[in-house]
Parts: sequence; C-alpha cells; structure tokens
Amino acid sequence: MSRKEQKKRRDNLDNNYLIWHSHKVKKENRESIKRQKGCALWFTGLSGSGKSTIANEVEYSLNRRGFHTYLLDGDNLRHGLNKDLGFSFEDRVENIRRVAEVAKLFVDAGIIVSVAFISPFLKEREKAKGIIGEENFVEIFVDTPLEECMKRDPKGLYKKALSGEISEFTGIDSPYEPPENPDIHINTVKTDINKSVSIILNLLSDRGIVLLL
Ligand code: ADP
Repeated sequence: MSRKEQKKRRDNLDNNYLIWHSHKVKKENRESIKRQKGCALWFTGLSGSGKSTIANEVEYSLNRRGFHTYLLDGDNLRHGLNKDLGFSFEDRVENIRRVAEVAKLFVDAGIIVSVAFISPFLKEREKAKGIIGEENFVEIFVDTPLEECMKRDPKGLYKKALSGEISEFTGIDSPYEPPENPDIHINTVKTDINKSVSIILNLLSDRGIVLLL
C-alpha cells in the first residue's frame, strides 16, 4: 500500500471509527508516585556533535539519583521501529514524527525521556514540540562545528559520506537548520561533558521537573 493510500485509510479511521478513551490514571498521578515530572529532553545537532554521549551521561546521572528515565537514540530506533525508513526528506520527516509520538507516550507515563536525533529540520522539531507539548519539551542544541564533527568522526560516517559511499548525509549533502531559540545551547568545543550534564540538570531543577538534593 502506498503512503498516500495508507494516509487515506488512516483519515477514514480517524473520522469514522476511532474514539479517544479517557483513562482514570493521569500524567499527574503517574508523576506523583515517581516524585518527578515527565518531560522530553530533545537533543539536536550534527552527527558526531555529542548528542548520544551527553544524553547518556544525563540519563546515568538522573538514574543514579533515583529518577525514572529513558533514552531514545536515533541510531538504535533505526534498528527497530524506524528500520523501514531511509534518509530521504520524506523519511526523515516520518522518522521524527514517530519518535515524537513515542516520546509523548513516555512523557505521559511520567518519565524523563531523552531524544538524541540529528533532527535537522526546524519545522520538524517544531512539529515534535507540538506533538509532545511545549510545556514538556526542552530543546538542547548540541552545537559542534562541522569541522570538529568531521575530525571526531566517531562512527566513520563522514569519511563514508565524503567518499560518496553514503548520500544525503547531514552537513555534507543534506542541510542542518540550527535551532533559533533553544532552551539550552551547548558548544562542546568549549564545554566538557560533565559541565554539559550539570547545565541540563540545573535546568530540570529550575523548572521543577526534578528535585535535586
Ligand atoms: P552524536 O550522537 O551527536 O552523533 P556521539 O555522542 O555519538 O555524537 O559522538 C560524539 C563524540 O564526540 C564522542 O566520541 C565523544 O566522546 C566526543 N566528544 C568530545 N568532546 C565532547 C564534548 N565536550 N561533549 C560531547 N561529546 C564530546
């Protein structure tokens, strides 16, 4: 079935048969037994900028303090939920839509979910914010210059993109649109990993998402 046919089918279902069920246990009830607020930490930046590294350390730090977290990693989700998607514009848009919907469920479950996806397009990040809800969304721009990402090249992907083995690679032959007004802006050339973690934890504390002792 083509994407267009799938959409038509979905629209029919939406309009005619699907009814939203309201459940007794709400986000606030789930949050109160966890002593935290559900929220999404949305890490965006070039490949190799440090999204996974920082998200991983943030999760570790929160977990050690007894908070409930989950980490949705772009590369990992492409092994499962998103394994039918490639890197065309259309597939990147769908990739972000799906992860935003998944993150929304985690937030509703009262969990602090980190999303480490390149998410190169401004409009798609705005859509993700809309799906998850602005009040639950923390945008973190992991800002590392392309030259530095290419120097680090932790997965050897820039080498492959430059040799033409991979196409539509962000920063090389596919654009990256930086956030205009992120909640947190980290320049990883000037800021080490520990400092990045403490900047993020402080924001969570300031917003009342966690209570740090
Ligand atoms: P991404 O998830 O954005 O593709 P990764 O986290 O996989 O990037 O890789 C980033 C690489 O950069 C890692 O090897 C990490 O150790 C390194 N790195 C060096 N300095 C920093 C820093 N200050 N912050 C985050 N990562 C850094």
